[in-house]
Amino acid sequence: MSLRTKFTLFIFVLVTLIILGIFLVVFLNQSKFLSVLFETNRERLFKDFSYTCKQAALVRDEILIINTLKSVVETYKPQIVYVGYAPLNNPSIIFVRDPGREVEFISRIFHEDLPRQQRLLAFRGERILEYSVPLRDAKDVYLGTVKIGFSENFLTDQIKQSANMLAKQILVIFVITLFLSFILSNLLAAYLVKPIKILTKAAIEIGKGHWDVKTNIKRKDEIGILAKTFEKMASEVKQLDELKDSFVSSVSHELRSPLSAIDGYVDFLIEGLNKGLLDRDKQLKALNIIKDSVNRLTTFINNILDLAKIKAGKFEIHKSPVKIEEIIKEVIALFEQLAVKQKKNLEVDIREILPEIYADPERVKQVLINLIGNALKFTDENATITVSARVVKENKLLGYKDIIVNPAFKFVEVSVKDTGCGIPENEIDKIFEKFYQVGGTTHTKPKGTGLGLSIVMEILKLHGGSIGVESVVGKGSTFKFLLPINK
Ligand code: ADP
Repeated sequence: MSLRTKFTLFIFVLVTLIILGIFLVVFLNQSKFLSVLFETNRERLFKDFSYTCKQAALVRDEILIINTLKSVVETYKPQIVYVGYAPLNNPSIIFVRDPGREVEFISRIFHEDLPRQQRLLAFRGERILEYSVPLRDAKDVYLGTVKIGFSENFLTDQIKQSANMLAKQILVIFVITLFLSFILSNLLAAYLVKPIKILTKAAIEIGKGHWDVKTNIKRKDEIGILAKTFEKMASEVKQLDELKDSFVSSVSHELRSPLSAIDGYVDFLIEGLNKGLLDRDKQLKALNIIKDSVNRLTTFINNILDLAKIKAGKFEIHKSPVKIEEIIKEVIALFEQLAVKQKKNLEVDIREILPEIYADPERVKQVLINLIGNALKFTDENATITVSARVVKENKLLGYKDIIVNPAFKFVEVSVKDTGCGIPENEIDKIFEKFYQVGGTTHTKPKGTGLGLSIVMEILKLHGGSIGVESVVGKGSTFKFLLPINK
């Protein structure tokens, strides 16, 4: 059963139940209300009647009494079956609703001393409630008794008629409401289900790899939010897909180029040594290239492994008090030869005596290797790369990524400044995402894997530090990171 049918049915059943409930309550109350109303009217009628008769009795006006009886039976015809007067010294007088039935009721018109109400068994199938009242003159001398016989059947018929009328009216309202609720619930269901159908179609399209789906759902309710989130998700998945493509191409490049270098130089060495053609310098040069390629492969594989550990939450650090200058010097020494080879200046600028930091030296080295490695990668000949360090008290520095540093600590700020290509402003935040490379998603060939900075950020987070970058396209970039001082 479709969602639309289910929804329509649900509303339909709900409306039916509500109307039936209302009908039951109204019907029961209406019957009660009508019977009370009719009974009150009857009492009032009898009160008026007996009052007029008593007034007439006080002045001994028998004619008035008889006229009152006559007019009452005429005025309230179906309701009053008979009225009668039993005077003290004359025969009883009776007026009946149905002509010719005087004989039937005359036996009821007799003297009674006290006012009284009495239910009588049916006369010809009609139940009667009889009221009687004695009349006395001004000296309290008994003059006679007047009686009224009210039809009980009339009362129940009236209630039945009103209830039937009400039932008919409610039935009409019921049918109209059901019809309207059917149409409205159907329309509402269509209104709700339509965007779900659109989203389903869009999801199918995404499943086929068409990321650029637009739902064109412009609503401000929850479905509108769902549609927007869906489109955003599609665009993010698209980005991830592109990143994945770029990563695959980088990975193949990162694996293939050192491997083919190793392969080529090993062949070269084997052939040269077999033929006795290679002198020591050539051998050394070949072995150095092989070593570089192995190093490149190791770094790459370590990055991939680190990333897997980060994802699994198993990336461990072992902190101890360390001297940051020593780590900087060690890493600079690692890159010195490469910098000379690439004709770039690699400088250290530390102008103060730095306190010890509390960190994992190997991981801090890894951070510096990544940043200096990037600086060398993204600069041209004659560029200058400066590594500096200083103590900072404040940590709300502009450009820092995810400031999670503890304000209770003092920090050492290390910066790696280069005069390279710089990073476009709109991409600065993204470079810390996994696999992201500036230009990596365009046609320009990526120079790495886009993993380095995300690993750097993770290492710094684990140290309670943070990282920031300032960059101007064409002028260069400065990466700065904070590490807490050993207490
Ligand atoms: P990788 O260097 O392996 O591509 P990273 O995560 O280290 O990965 O860097 C992500 C991207 O950030 C790089 O691809 C590059 O576009 C940009 N980037 C990083 N450092 C620099 C820098 N010093 N100068 C210019 N761009 C940089």
